[in-house]
Amino acid sequence: MEIKGFIDISLIDWDGQISSVVFLAGCNLRCPFCYNVNLVLHPEKLPAIPFEQIEDRSKKSRGWIDGVVITGGEPTINSDLLGLCEKIKEMGFLVKLDTNGTNPVMVRELIDKRLVDYIAMDVKAPLTVENYSRVCGVNVENLVEKIEETLGILLGDGVEYEFRTTVVPGLHDERDIEEICQRIRGCRKYVIQNYKGDVETVDPKFKGLKPFSEEKMKVFLTTAKKIIPNTILRGFPSLPHREQ
Ligand code: SF4
Repeated sequence: MEIKGFIDISLIDWDGQISSVVFLAGCNLRCPFCYNVNLVLHPEKLPAIPFEQIEDRSKKSRGWIDGVVITGGEPTINSDLLGLCEKIKEMGFLVKLDTNGTNPVMVRELIDKRLVDYIAMDVKAPLTVENYSRVCGVNVENLVEKIEETLGILLGDGVEYEFRTTVVPGLHDERDIEEICQRIRGCRKYVIQNYKGDVETVDPKFKGLKPFSEEKMKVFLTTAKKIIPNTILRGFPSLPHREQ
């Protein structure tokens, strides 16, 4: 596992908590709109940060931060993620995991061992191979079942969680939001994030694409709220947020 980024203090990565953020390299998906280009495609270009450095910096922030967000890339492709969570817990911090949901076995283990306090899982599209492959940039034939399984684990109420969708012009419309919401009906919290626009993207064709308008985001919100009352928008109107 390689840590390729660290933010000492963030107010935008965990609702209601002040957190540090650890970025792990690599991802098993290739979402064309993803802005973590180097983390996903060229992690070798980024310097690795030794855990000891993170430990030192986190100790200095103790008293300021509540927890540590582990994001990527996709953190669960690292077999030693459990060890990292353990170390962070031993330091006395809460742990939040950002995941695309493709590793239910690891998510289950993290929950069972109480190594994670909050999970934010992407639901990138309605859960069919065709829809998901379109939005994730790879054929997810072998992954949809796993994503479904992780979804079921979270809906099973073992840990605090949210589901979230980054909506991207050309990839999502109201029908997608409605289908996603039908599948995660009953969930505790659903977040719709607007695509950022004007950032480097995994597929350069998505760079500079105009995000959805305020009106369109409100339509998505209304559509979702009919099925999941606890739906919120992030990244609107121009609120800072980090996509996953
Ligand atoms: S958006 Fe998330 S899941 Fe998709 S390529 Fe980027 S890091 Fe991976």
